[in-house]
Amino acid sequence: MLDHAKRESPLECCGILSGKEKIVQKAFELKNSEESPVQYSMSPRDQVKVFEEMEKESMEMVAIYHSHPHTIPFPSETDVKLAFYPDVSSVIISLKEEDPVMKAFQISKEAIYLEEIEVIP
Ligand SMILES: [Zn+2]
Repeated sequence: MLDHAKRESPLECCGILSGKEKIVQKAFELKNSEESPVQYSMSPRDQVKVFEEMEKESMEMVAIYHSHPHTIPFPSETDVKLAFYPDVSSVIISLKEEDPVMKAFQISKEAIYLEEIEVIP
């Protein structure tokens, strides 16, 4: 995921994290169809492909991740506007500082909640 963010920089990268019961088992790298350094979007076709794969392995969508090549790891106005899945966490990887920072959020129209990320070895 980090690798993906660095590879796509200075453009934003995006992808889907899938798994079971909020535990991520697999990351799908998607193409940022905006090819933009300040926003991202995933094409419906790519999303359908990932949903099919997840179905096959009976996984569900746990989070959507994207990178902020130049800004802090906090949802931008666009991110809030485009948060279509309120039950799915948004993970943001910031490359602003030398050491990348990763944060997870629950974004709804009313509020943004910071979530814990636990790394399970
Ligand atoms: Zn963003």
